[in-house]
Amino acid sequence: MGGGTLAYALRDSGVRVLIVEQGDFLPVERENWSFDAVHTEGRYKNSAPWYDTVAGKEFVPGNYHYVGGSTKLYGATLPRFRESDFGAVHHVDGVSPAWPIGYADLEPHYTEAENMFWVHGNKGEDPTDPWRSADYPFPGIPHEGAMARLVESARRQGLHPFAAPQSVDWRPGGGCVLCETCDSFACMVDAKGDADVAAVRPALRATSRNVELLTNAEVLRLDTDESGRRVTAARIRHAGGREIEVRAERFVVACGAANTAALLLRSTSGSHPGGLANSSDQVGRNYMAHVTTFFLAVDPRHKNEAVYQKTIGINDWYSAGPSTPFPLGNVQGLGKLHGQQAKQGKPWVPMSILDEVTKYTLDMFIQTEDLPLSENRIGLDRAGNVTVTRRETNLASHHELIRRMKKVVRKAGFPVVLTRSLGVEATSHQCGTARMGIDSASSVVDADLKAHDVDNLWIADSSPFPSSAAVNPAITVAALALRLGHSGALTT
Ligand SMILES: Cc1cc2nc3c(=O)[nH]c(=O)nc-3n(C[C@H](O)[C@H](O)[C@H](O)COP(=O)(O)OP(=O)(O)OC[C@H]3O[C@@H](n4cnc5c(N)ncnc54)[C@H](O)[C@@H]3O)c2cc1C
Repeated sequence: MGGGTLAYALRDSGVRVLIVEQGDFLPVERENWSFDAVHTEGRYKNSAPWYDTVAGKEFVPGNYHYVGGSTKLYGATLPRFRESDFGAVHHVDGVSPAWPIGYADLEPHYTEAENMFWVHGNKGEDPTDPWRSADYPFPGIPHEGAMARLVESARRQGLHPFAAPQSVDWRPGGGCVLCETCDSFACMVDAKGDADVAAVRPALRATSRNVELLTNAEVLRLDTDESGRRVTAARIRHAGGREIEVRAERFVVACGAANTAALLLRSTSGSHPGGLANSSDQVGRNYMAHVTTFFLAVDPRHKNEAVYQKTIGINDWYSAGPSTPFPLGNVQGLGKLHGQQAKQGKPWVPMSILDEVTKYTLDMFIQTEDLPLSENRIGLDRAGNVTVTRRETNLASHHELIRRMKKVVRKAGFPVVLTRSLGVEATSHQCGTARMGIDSASSVVDADLKAHDVDNLWIADSSPFPSSAAVNPAITVAALALRLGHSGALTT
């Protein structure tokens, strides 16, 4: 999201841009929309395993190496961070720190990103929505099936459910048919606003042809000059194992929070013994990924006829207030679950039963802000593989949010609730591993995303986030990248 959107911002800017991508274009094939291929066989999971140092075991994260990165498989819900998320926020387990920039610094770039990614939403429905200089480019997607019933009941209960902002090509004449294979699937007809379709490919079509793409090219390390102040080259393992070197005037790292930290930590040298741009010892630290739960409300009397189910958002307990001493988080619709996904949480239950049960479930995703702890970190083992150390924060608030949502869905006619918390293996909202800040002793990049320690190195993904907020991260990644791209830092 960050790298592709930055390339988009730099199209026809007069500088030559090379995107170096570890993966390839995700193939267009029947399996794109197969629940068995995607969820049972994990056909598109192509990350190397990470080692969870707390549980003492390996797992393969949902971290995707394709043109478009993780957005190829993402759920396309693109909410802006709330204005309050850029200030210090008091949580049950501590304070979420302020950013060195405010919402107003990003607002024009959020607006541009919403246009790029065809965001559909309804202004004024969500009371926590921040101010905006322009309406959503397209109206919100209507609620279907059981979701519509829940929305009506939630309103009667005094809540403010809203149309969650969706990045799909449901414009007049657009290719999106609101199918059930959007969240966690690749879109076979390019009707999801992922970073491949909406950013990289338009960048490659720039009139001046100033953007180029090198695929199947994993950056292994960045080299610097003797002073350590300038990156001189990226060393790359190209398709087939050949090592090549790319030299440039300026370098931007946008490998996703975990892999950006891993790349910097691998790039040690005499001037950067603890890893590139790491004099603060903050690279890899403050890893955050939201505290998340799949929340399934069941009405055993009625099947859920919803096909595109990602439309609901509830932010009534997002901030502290009279009924909530601490912020609890965000509730939103999840792509319609089938037996194959439920099997991952309940492997002992026969598939025929899971298939039947999921016809009745209304599937939601509950997320609470995770705090940046110094000891929650991405690291490397001796062989250079990624390790993750994470203890979740704000669990009491998360459980309280689940308890409140249980009351809401029961009143709405869904007496049974099934939940599954995802823990450390939920890596999709990863951020924070190269935090942004004014003080070079406690942060990796400055407020303009430039590394404090290096004169020609920037970071443009989710790693500079000082805090995780409690809404999905991708449009904030895009807005930061657009701000950098338009700042002149990379073009003058
Ligand atoms: C299943 C799923 C659902 C999601 N749903 C949502 C959602 O609904 N809304 C939302 O806001 N967010 C969602 N996300 C999260 C969203 O996709 C990420 O926040 C976003 O993609 C992060 O952008 P990024 O630029 O930090 O990293 P990425 O988009 O992951 O891009 C990193 C890129 O760097 C490449 N790379 C990594 N290492 C190297 C290397 N060494 N050399 C060369 N290239 C490298 C990768 O291959 C990848 O292309 C979801 C994620 C997943 C997995």
